[in-house]
Amino acid sequence: MSYYPLAVLGEWIAPLTESGANNKDAYRLLWDGFLHEFDILKQKSCHYNVDAIALLLEKYTSFIPSITLKVYGGDDAATYRKHPDISLFDHLKITAATASCLYDYYAARYPSKFNETVLKDEITNWEISSGPNSAPLLLVGGDISGVQSFIYTISSKGALKSLKGRSFYLELLIEHTADMLLEGLDQTRCNIIFTGGGHFYILAPNTEAALKTIEHVRSRINDYLFRSFNASIQMHIRFVPFAKHNFGDASGPWRELGREMENSKQHKWEHYLEDLLAEPAMPEESCLTRNCDICGREDQPLTALSDDKSEVLSCQWCREQYLLGGSLQAAARKKGRLVIYRMKDRPSSENDMRIDDCFYHIGESYKDEAGKDASAVFHLNDWDLSDYVHPHSRPLMAGIYFSENCRELEDMALQGFGMNRIGVLKMDVDNLGTIFSQSVPENERTLSRMASLSRNMSLFFKYHINGILGMDEGYPLPFLLCDRRNVKRNLTIVYSGGDDLFLIGHWLDIMESSFDINAALGGFTANTFITVSGGMVLGDSHDPVYHLAQQAHAAEKAAKDGTKQSITIFSCEHVFKWSLITLFQERIQSLAGFFTLGRNHLELPEGSLTRSMLYRMLLLFRDHRKRKDAGWHLPHLAYSLGRFRPGKGFEKSWSSLKDYVFSTNVDWHNLEMAVLIILMMMRKENGQ
Ligand SMILES: [Zn+2]
Repeated sequence: MSYYPLAVLGEWIAPLTESGANNKDAYRLLWDGFLHEFDILKQKSCHYNVDAIALLLEKYTSFIPSITLKVYGGDDAATYRKHPDISLFDHLKITAATASCLYDYYAARYPSKFNETVLKDEITNWEISSGPNSAPLLLVGGDISGVQSFIYTISSKGALKSLKGRSFYLELLIEHTADMLLEGLDQTRCNIIFTGGGHFYILAPNTEAALKTIEHVRSRINDYLFRSFNASIQMHIRFVPFAKHNFGDASGPWRELGREMENSKQHKWEHYLEDLLAEPAMPEESCLTRNCDICGREDQPLTALSDDKSEVLSCQWCREQYLLGGSLQAAARKKGRLVIYRMKDRPSSENDMRIDDCFYHIGESYKDEAGKDASAVFHLNDWDLSDYVHPHSRPLMAGIYFSENCRELEDMALQGFGMNRIGVLKMDVDNLGTIFSQSVPENERTLSRMASLSRNMSLFFKYHINGILGMDEGYPLPFLLCDRRNVKRNLTIVYSGGDDLFLIGHWLDIMESSFDINAALGGFTANTFITVSGGMVLGDSHDPVYHLAQQAHAAEKAAKDGTKQSITIFSCEHVFKWSLITLFQERIQSLAGFFTLGRNHLELPEGSLTRSMLYRMLLLFRDHRKRKDAGWHLPHLAYSLGRFRPGKGFEKSWSSLKDYVFSTNVDWHNLEMAVLIILMMMRKENGQ
């Protein structure tokens, strides 16, 4: 049994497992903090901003249970069982969304009576309101198709900025579409159940006006996407009725919406067939001899990607995404409080990212000057309410960690510890569908619980991921395979949200980070049924990103194909359960006595093992693992190891290695990987 202590959201909070109780003083602290920040908003007349108030509530009520009554006549255990695992915040948010939807629904359904009588029977009569056509709400879902090839099919020129820019563009696109819907429906962001991973889920009233709004947004956003990206990405928007009884069991509409979405994806661009079948257009004039260097299209004018002398030509969209990625990197490096201004109809600078008729502009901190023309201001990963000074300030949680010193993939490969290679990691939560649909008991699949689960998953992958990779104070200690100093993770988040992530960077930092993320998720959920699997592959900084992404996908699949809860390291033959990773670390550390720590790689001092000996051991261990008749190589091993005489100071490490190799519990795979990784940590090319 574990529980969250009463705390303020924003820092890393993991559940406690020892028994304890939250006392009055802890509640008092939360209340005082809440009042203090509410006053700050009030002084700035920003307390009417629902988004700011929702953030304030999330910050102070996330860890308060939604009911805290003592069960009459029951003991503490009975009371505990009765207490829901849903936070007060999720309960408040869903209640607010429901109330405003019901208001619209009843106002539209009983227009003549609405202002004259109390519609008590109409609202409370369960039977009348639960018929198939009288569901008062809609569950609306959005899902972008074509994401994989949109993000990863790019040339390696300026890859890092393009990758980040493209994936962040998609996040903005989801927020933009959700905002269009909410603004059209005259609802607030309380109605958003979830955004991330290229999806959104929204609660809407089931009215004629709402149906029209949804249709309008769907066609408008897709017109824009069709025109801008040649039909390569599409926003699927579908909805299903949501009846009153679905608050108690939301799994039905959830499933049905999933089916609707699949259906929509099978009929891609069905209203655009005429355009799709039209004669191919002649290439744009500047594309007669050359295509966009990044995406390859030839129907858009090409311009220089950046001011440097790299001579990369790109289309307008690739250029905007590249610049977006660049400003995000630059701003993230400074670790300030990033904001994104949303401007209507007017570009404020060259670096604006356009989505339909809005322009998104990144700022390093909020400025009144820039804010006065903004129709909304997004505050990135910011829990300090005193920053929410614009009438349309709202939070945006996003994985934006970026290593401080590296601008391009090549730098990451060069500046890491050991071999100059890059690593790519793809990781996601195991059995997510089952977690939502089956691991919660049937009578407990309430909408609030679903919302609570998705919000926390999202909090981990969009927000805490930054602290984990940044090794921020308060977060679990990072996993290091050797005792290197002043470690900063030399990598970037291409994408993290929903329940999955994609990282690229120096291979060692990528590998160790995968261990960190797995351990952190275990700590965060305190639930052994919520696990992740991942796949990590090696590459060169000039390899096509699409190719690396495909390999990482195959590696992740290999980890999932077995019993899951695993990581594939380098190639599909090296799949390890997470539980074995500590053994792996122990094995590497048991060999540490042979090495000294150089500035950016491991070194072999005089009298220690030799490099060629390590290579020979690697081959023998590998052969040994692969052969069924394991006894075959033992004489070779005995011969190889027996001839070696360690120098002074290395005798102990040597005899413990020999003891392990000839012991009955030797794990050949583990040993092979330990030697391989050590060899990789020793290697530093380019004369270093
Ligand atoms: Zn392009």
